[in-house]
Amino acid sequence: MRNELSFSIERNELINAERAYELYWSEAIRNQQAFRCPDITCPAAFTCVNMYRAANELKQQPHFRARVEHKVNCDFLDDIVKQTLSRSGTSGSPGDPAAALPDRFLLSRPANDLVKIIATDAVRTNVQLGTKQGNDWIAAARRRSTEFYSIGRLVSRWLQARKTGTANSRTVQFASGAPLTYSQAFVSLYPRGRQIPGIARVYWGKARIRRSKDNSSYVLYFSEPVSTGSLAGPRVLLKPLMILRDDDLAQNAMRKATAHIISDAIKNDDSWCTAFSYSTPKPPKSGAFLDLTPTSVDFLAIEPIALLSELE
Ligand SMILES: [Zn+2]
Repeated sequence: MRNELSFSIERNELINAERAYELYWSEAIRNQQAFRCPDITCPAAFTCVNMYRAANELKQQPHFRARVEHKVNCDFLDDIVKQTLSRSGTSGSPGDPAAALPDRFLLSRPANDLVKIIATDAVRTNVQLGTKQGNDWIAAARRRSTEFYSIGRLVSRWLQARKTGTANSRTVQFASGAPLTYSQAFVSLYPRGRQIPGIARVYWGKARIRRSKDNSSYVLYFSEPVSTGSLAGPRVLLKPLMILRDDDLAQNAMRKATAHIISDAIKNDDSWCTAFSYSTPKPPKSGAFLDLTPTSVDFLAIEPIALLSELE
């Protein structure tokens, strides 16, 4: 049986497998077996499968597998939790008005979002749905499944929406902006010469990773020039790039995952990757490059080049 939600003993938090993965790769949790049912009277125990696998080696998304099943009538049996989440708008079926609620992309991560915390079994209380604490936990879990601080998480939502054919209907709200559909929010940087909007969007495409001349950063050069319209005069084609400074990467919680995928792309794929940048394109100060460097490392994502063939 697969469970959507599980209680992380190391974080003292009810989470889904995607968040468990993010916590592991930011070194906030360590053990793929440290997941239980939130109800302390229930023996259910879970393993987060694929938690230790680097993103470029994932053949299957991380998920929870039960080592010990829930007790009979446990509040946190898979279906019950799913129904509760569905009612609150996380995973509703088409036609469910709650499903129209947008995901949210927040521009700054709360300070404690990915840090290691000291949690012990003793803090786990007898949580039941319907009680205030049970409802609070479900609400927090719901928030964590629909509020994102990194473009990497948003990319997986987008991929999911494309897979289920809902990229034109599911919406995401950036900070306090108007909701956009996932199709509007993600703008591809090809084919060659494509006119891009020049406003804040998640731009993506095939890119090659290089070290900067002064050895202080990685530069990602996108493969195709795009038309920037008003940014540099009409019909001017510019190649986009983005810069990832070593200093900024070193301070980012997800540095381990990002460094891993960069070194893998350089080693195995001739430095090609699929790159995403949530940014407002800036006209070049000089030269022929359109600057897509985002304002935070959390606003860029680097995925294996193999992803590109799925997207074309
Ligand atoms: Zn249980």
